[in-house]
Amino acid sequence: MLSANDRHKILKRGRTSIAWEGEPLLGSIYGEEEVEAAVAAIRDSMEVSKGFGFTCQQILDFETAFAHYTGSKHAIAINSAGPGLDMSMRYLKLQPGDEVIVPAINFMASPLAVMGAGGQVVWGEVDPKTLQLDPNDVKKRITPRTRAIFPVHMNGLAAPMDDYFEIAERHPHPQHGPLVVIGDAARACGGEYKGKKIGKDGFGTIFSFHTMKNMVTLGEGGMVTTDDDTFAAYCRSTRFYGIATEDWGTSNVMTKVQAAVGLVQLSKLDSFIDARRRLAHRRNELLDGLPNIELPYEPSDCKHSYYLYTCLVRPEWAGDKRNQLMERMEQEFGVKCLIANPPVYESRKLMRDHTPGQSLPLSEQIGQRIVCVPIHPSMSDEDNEYIAAALIECADGLG
Ligand SMILES: *Cc1c(COP(=O)(O)O)cnc(C)c1O
Repeated sequence: MLSANDRHKILKRGRTSIAWEGEPLLGSIYGEEEVEAAVAAIRDSMEVSKGFGFTCQQILDFETAFAHYTGSKHAIAINSAGPGLDMSMRYLKLQPGDEVIVPAINFMASPLAVMGAGGQVVWGEVDPKTLQLDPNDVKKRITPRTRAIFPVHMNGLAAPMDDYFEIAERHPHPQHGPLVVIGDAARACGGEYKGKKIGKDGFGTIFSFHTMKNMVTLGEGGMVTTDDDTFAAYCRSTRFYGIATEDWGTSNVMTKVQAAVGLVQLSKLDSFIDARRRLAHRRNELLDGLPNIELPYEPSDCKHSYYLYTCLVRPEWAGDKRNQLMERMEQEFGVKCLIANPPVYESRKLMRDHTPGQSLPLSEQIGQRIVCVPIHPSMSDEDNEYIAAALIECADGLG
């Protein structure tokens, strides 16, 4: 851990180069290559006989490169991760009362997808160390109505997919067979699990290229990966009105310009992840031994993408003290931290009303303990040191 002496020296240097936020508004780094790719794609579309559509070479190239990157058979580009989550749930043709297990500590998108497809959300607790949907808790929540397990690769770390697969095989649905495991990897593009990129394991995986994410296609964008030919055909079809498979669909296509930029971002993704990891590991050293705050946990079989640098204050600090810590970080040091995420049913009344009576005490407590400290691939070592020093200073002040 930083000595008191070093800490004071670092804090005396003055505030960070920019006002860092827990989840910066641009998650990746853009350069001239992206600008040139965008301009070239626009120029390529200016002929009346050509235009921007439909499934153009840029989209095909981006999909091929992405499938290769994740090692999956298919990659289907879409306009945002949300529609990909919707597609994956609609594909299951859920009947009223059919249940899908999703982690309570989560972004709202995947539970909304379950509800939107006519299913019943069943919340699962998360492992307090990894913040991933807890396989042991999943087991307890399976009923004859359970159709799918819908983990999120939370905050950039891979969820324990093999554990879910084993449960899915052991607890088959009476008509549909083994439960389907679909992963929300919106925050985890470029992360790894057991030596493989996230996106290879599971029936399907959904990625986001929204402006805050690990790679960005001009602000919005997403991808579905799968090894299943039928699901891939369904996604390709339903991203454009379901024509090819005679399914219901709407328009969820990615644009040519986004795909052209996506190809460039994908070529840089590993360098972004390396930068995030280097900063996180350095910060872990600077904070090592800090009482009252648990640092992010990286299981030995995972390569964390550190989309967020997620800490937990100790249980006694849940709520008020955690909030005071965040206030001090912002007011005294100009560093904005983030709570990502409290249980979804606490933040969305719609989801509370959809799941009456379901309460998850562990996730509720974790929601009061989470504090995500800013991290970004372009962050300088000086800023990283300042943020670590500020965190120690604030935690000491409260201890
Ligand atoms: C950002 C995010 C989404 C939604 O992604 P969009 O591309 O904005 O639709 C879904 N799930 C999680 C966990 C996210 O963080």
